[in-house]
Amino acid sequence: MNGNLNGHATAPEAAEEPKEDVEDFDLVIVGAGISGVNMAYRTQTMLRGKSYVILERRQNMGGTWDLVNVPI
Ligand SMILES: Cc1cc2nc3c(=O)[nH]c(=O)nc-3n(C[C@H](O)[C@H](O)[C@H](O)COP(=O)(O)OP(=O)(O)OC[C@H]3O[C@@H](n4cnc5c(N)ncnc54)[C@H](O)[C@@H]3O)c2cc1C
Repeated sequence: MNGNLNGHATAPEAAEEPKEDVEDFDLVIVGAGISGVNMAYRTQTMLRGKSYVILERRQNMGGTWDLVNVPI
């Protein structure tokens, strides 16, 4: 356990080696449904210069609207 009785965390016993294949982003958006796509759009238009990544567990984007086929 990394903690002591006064609530201060203690250093891990062995420092982890920095991983060279790790990429940093300012924002991580979980899900490419309409909310995630909108968040990406807002980031591009309102937070210019901020980097982001969208993590989507499915092959397709669109979330519910990709899953459910609604005749319009
Ligand atoms: C027929 C129908 C009509 C609707 N009509 C309306 C309406 O009129 N008005 C309205 O407001 N809403 C309506 N809805 C609801 C609609 O689904 C939501 O408004 C909208 O799609 C929600 O979008 P979302 O991006 O928040 O979520 P979702 O569409 O659910 O997208 C979430 C995404 O995140 C991904 N995800 C989840 N967890 C993880 C994880 N741990 N790691 C990686 N990816 C993850 C999922 O795979 C998914 O792609 C309707 C829904 C249906 C089916």
